[in-house]
Amino acid sequence: MEQIIDIQHLNKSFGTHEVLRDVNFSVSKGEVVSIIGSSGSGKSTLLRCINLLEKASGGQIFYHGENILDNKHDVADYRKHLGMVFQQFNLFNNHNVLKNCVVGQVKVLKRAKEEAEKVAMHYLTVVGMDKYINAKPRQLSGGQKQRVAIARALSMNPDVMLFDEPTSALDPEMVGEVLKVMKDLANSGQTMIIVTHEMEFAKEVSDRVIFMDKGVIAEEGSPEQIFHNPIQERTREFLKRTLVKQPS
Ligand code: ADP
Ligand code: MG
Repeated sequence: MEQIIDIQHLNKSFGTHEVLRDVNFSVSKGEVVSIIGSSGSGKSTLLRCINLLEKASGGQIFYHGENILDNKHDVADYRKHLGMVFQQFNLFNNHNVLKNCVVGQVKVLKRAKEEAEKVAMHYLTVVGMDKYINAKPRQLSGGQKQRVAIARALSMNPDVMLFDEPTSALDPEMVGEVLKVMKDLANSGQTMIIVTHEMEFAKEVSDRVIFMDKGVIAEEGSPEQIFHNPIQERTREFLKRTLVKQPS
């Protein structure tokens, strides 16, 4: 399968604090890879290194075989191909829903406004937010905001979608509607890297699961392996802690 992103020996330190250590993994076209692990294990930093919001301290990130960290590479062009959805939505609060999904297309992809609006309407319909094009973000629920954020990212027709805990800031009753959109997206063949605490969801949609612990990939495998047959003791301990059901 064609590798889209291939990460080799990635390191990241903040001062003397080593946050990522020798991280290696790749994502192929159409693959859905979930990243799980305790808070502080480096999951967000890894995503932020992939989309160059953080500068890696060492290692390589190959995009379609080209090392994008080699200075010669056109970083702006690379970033056009990545869509990012954050925990905190990061919508433009002064713009309505439609404009949120249009501005990036016009500014970055140089699409004509009419074309950009057509694309935006398509993806807003996909996420079920086409009825809200004139609303401002503050008029929307968290789940609705996150669906707009997903439509906005998709409107850029990214090669890879990166999600950083997209449901962690949501009220529990809104988690389902966002996971449903992401599930449909995964089934449509979109390449995705998803940092999530939603273990059932990760089990269901992922082709591969990566368990991070203290800045390293501690274990990687199929959902069956990671959730039902983990090899590493620290994977088992993490899952035991995470999967404990609260008494109802
Ligand atoms: P996770 O997303 O798995 O919770 P993070 O990637 O956010 O973990 O953080 C990993 C570690 O890196 C944490 O110890 C965090 O405090 C540290 N860290 C993250 N961002 C910064 C930063 N900008 N400056 C200093 N330390 C940071
Ligand atoms: Mg995080």
